[in-house]
Amino acid sequence: MGLDNRAALRRCGFALLALAVSAGLLSTDAASADGTPAKELFGAKALPTEAAPTSYGFYSKGCLAGGIAIPTDGPTWQAMRLSRNRRWGHPEMIALIERFSHDAAERIGWPGLLLGDISQPRGGPMLSGHASHQIGLDADIWLTRMPQKTLSYQERESISATSMLDKSKFLTIDPSVWTPAHARLIMMAASYPEVERVFVNPAIKKKLCDTWRGDRSALGKVRPIYGHDYHFHIRIKCPAGSQGCKDQAAVPAGDGCDKSLAWWFTDEPWAKPKKKPGEKPPKPKFATLGDLPKACALVLNGPAPGSEQQATYGTAYSAPAAIPAAATSIESVIGATDEAPLANIPVPLPRPALQ
Ligand SMILES: [Zn+2]
Repeated sequence: MGLDNRAALRRCGFALLALAVSAGLLSTDAASADGTPAKELFGAKALPTEAAPTSYGFYSKGCLAGGIAIPTDGPTWQAMRLSRNRRWGHPEMIALIERFSHDAAERIGWPGLLLGDISQPRGGPMLSGHASHQIGLDADIWLTRMPQKTLSYQERESISATSMLDKSKFLTIDPSVWTPAHARLIMMAASYPEVERVFVNPAIKKKLCDTWRGDRSALGKVRPIYGHDYHFHIRIKCPAGSQGCKDQAAVPAGDGCDKSLAWWFTDEPWAKPKKKPGEKPPKPKFATLGDLPKACALVLNGPAPGSEQQATYGTAYSAPAAIPAAATSIESVIGATDEAPLANIPVPLPRPALQ
């Protein structure tokens, strides 16, 4: 199938989806009627829906049509925890990660990104971890530098990320692991206009507030949150064309090095919730398909790309023309290792070059 045909197919899929949504044709699916948690439905999908790339809903309540997977290996990145199959995202998110990884290598000498979770093939809630990451616009990046060697499949499952905290103290950066390059990496991520927020541990935010001497205009986008000491989390804005995507409220003006940050260093965020004697803990309530935007029923049940389309995904990464060739010193890491037990990984592994 040629490019034109594929584009036509995508437009067609999109039109059908839009039509069905507006006509209210999406009655509740049997799965949602029986209360099956949406995380079980979306967690079971190994491939995306073939449609125009669209993020539906909000970061913590939605789904993704037309997602693409970032290749397991690029000139300046390696994807981790491949068994989770969470390398999927909106093409704009995938493009941003590729560009960021290249810029970080080129401009600050960061040897490459180790990629954590992005989204499931069709987004949606996940069986483990993450309230957000549901619409293909969130990505976790490890704070551990990428090694020069290509990691094996097993290593990508088992290697641990490094915490930036001194765990013997309260919210304190470990000076033996934190480097100025970490600060530059996080600030670079926040500097892209399409990046809406970057989530980090409060101790990391404080470190940036105390030490960042460069342009502080992007510092307000770096937001303190629980965890996020082993990785940071990049969230991009709703892409143009994603009509069903709900933007998050803009970050407040200023660099955020204020009382909103100081609050994290009080007892309040860390206090155990008070329970009345005899009170039972509330039952966890899981979102069903009916709780998500209507389009998510079609996204869930839509066709995966045909085998012909999957074949065009190919196995070799080719850098999009917009990204300049990487420095020769890191070209040795291009290409997947043949140690990886590919049979266990849902196809397609890489994705077509972004056009
Ligand atoms: Zn995250």
